[in-house]
Amino acid sequence: MNKPHLVVVGSVAIDWIITPRAERPESVGGSATFFSMAASYLSQVRLVGVVGRDFPDYAVADLRANGVDVSGLEIVQDGLTFRWKGQYHENMNDRTTLETHLNVFEKFQPRLPAEFRGSEYLFLANIQPRLQSDVFAQMQRPRLVGLDTMNLWISIANDDLKAVLKNVDVLTLNDEEARQLSGEHNIVKAARAVRALGPRNVVIKRGEYGALLFDADGEVFSAPALPLEDVVDPTGAGDSFAGGFMGWLARPGVEPNGASLRTAMIYGSVMASFCVEGFSYDRLKGLDAAAIQRRFETFASLTNFDRASLT
Ligand code: AMP
Repeated sequence: MNKPHLVVVGSVAIDWIITPRAERPESVGGSATFFSMAASYLSQVRLVGVVGRDFPDYAVADLRANGVDVSGLEIVQDGLTFRWKGQYHENMNDRTTLETHLNVFEKFQPRLPAEFRGSEYLFLANIQPRLQSDVFAQMQRPRLVGLDTMNLWISIANDDLKAVLKNVDVLTLNDEEARQLSGEHNIVKAARAVRALGPRNVVIKRGEYGALLFDADGEVFSAPALPLEDVVDPTGAGDSFAGGFMGWLARPGVEPNGASLRTAMIYGSVMASFCVEGFSYDRLKGLDAAAIQRRFETFASLTNFDRASLT
């Protein structure tokens, strides 16, 4: 049987990260980069994106070494890579964007390699909603479409975002973004309002407090985050979560349903927990199935309790 493929479009970036304890000025990042590295341990990933002449060769080699098909990564010689500068505060859930330079993304017109178009799974990682729509339009008939976005696009490209959301099966976003998109403060009401925009399933990421799944059957599932002593750099946690989540669903034989979405939530949490242990994708490199599985078991024991009864 041919293995299913998972296409991702999103940012491929050079970040400048400032945390309360350290700083890394040239940290390879981007939503599609973290997503691909995380998902590559679970399924066959095909990356669509663009970088400039300043993007380091080693990062492309790292993606390749993890089995990611980078034939959809365009390298523009007369342009510069997307750059983002962010600062974390003492509470690492709290971050400020200091700079965003779209650079090569401003004129990017994604063109999917022919063999990408028939892929079964699609993830539209955080990038301009117009580009997410462009990529969706080039796909033949994906079985499952996921999407992630951020506050910037909810404010400056709201109509474009709402248009692409009509085609989405699973939307991942953080709690503040869910509130911003829906206008509802309560998270349950916000999830309901967001589902009314199109996505049948909504995952609300809550940083160190884990993630909530509001699924197509109206069920709610809660996944914890791993209580870690040393969070080095939270950048990319959300994208790594999405990579583990979609990576599980894109495995041969996994049918998307309420039960598999719950397992996907745990693989997402596992990959996010590795991501935050280092800068960039440092910790996502060089993992193996055994290490991932051990951490999956840690998550299982984190919420395992005896069913007691008073009657
Ligand atoms: P996350 O921590 O999962 O929310 O994602 C962090 C990544 O998002 C960083 O590596 C940035 O390069 C990338 N990023 C920041 N702003 C944007 C934006 N406006 N569009 C696309 N990617 C972005």
